[in-house]
Amino acid sequence: MLIGQVTCRCCHGGALTLKLMLAINALEEIMPRGYDLHITSGYRCRKNNKKSGGVSDSEHLFGRAIDLYCPQLHILDLLYIALQISSFKGIGLYIDCKIPRLHLDVRSTTKQARWCKKNGVFVPFEEEAKQVLF
Ligand SMILES: [Zn+2]
Ligand SMILES: [Zn+2]
Repeated sequence: MLIGQVTCRCCHGGALTLKLMLAINALEEIMPRGYDLHITSGYRCRKNNKKSGGVSDSEHLFGRAIDLYCPQLHILDLLYIALQISSFKGIGLYIDCKIPRLHLDVRSTTKQARWCKKNGVFVPFEEEAKQVLF
């Protein structure tokens, strides 16, 4: 089940693109039965994006990104599942924050983007994700 708000938290504006909604549906379909996806951030207006510490050209501004976690799964297990949805071109792993979460976006590029932020600093994605990548 999908839990949480996809419109902007501050002004309730915006929406997700169809491409992102289809990708989220595909992710939900391959999730283990009875497991929930909790959305912590969907669309963000400029003001909210700045407040949330998002980069100035964040995919959240265009409704192409979502941040989420699954309370029943380790974040790396959720990453393993999300990596199977090829339309998620951008995947960010945020770990060692209060609630570890994934950023998933359907950016309009063929080049994939992968990053990992741990304790507030960027660390090599491959290093953190090696348990699920190899
Ligand atoms: Zn807003
Ligand atoms: Zn995000």
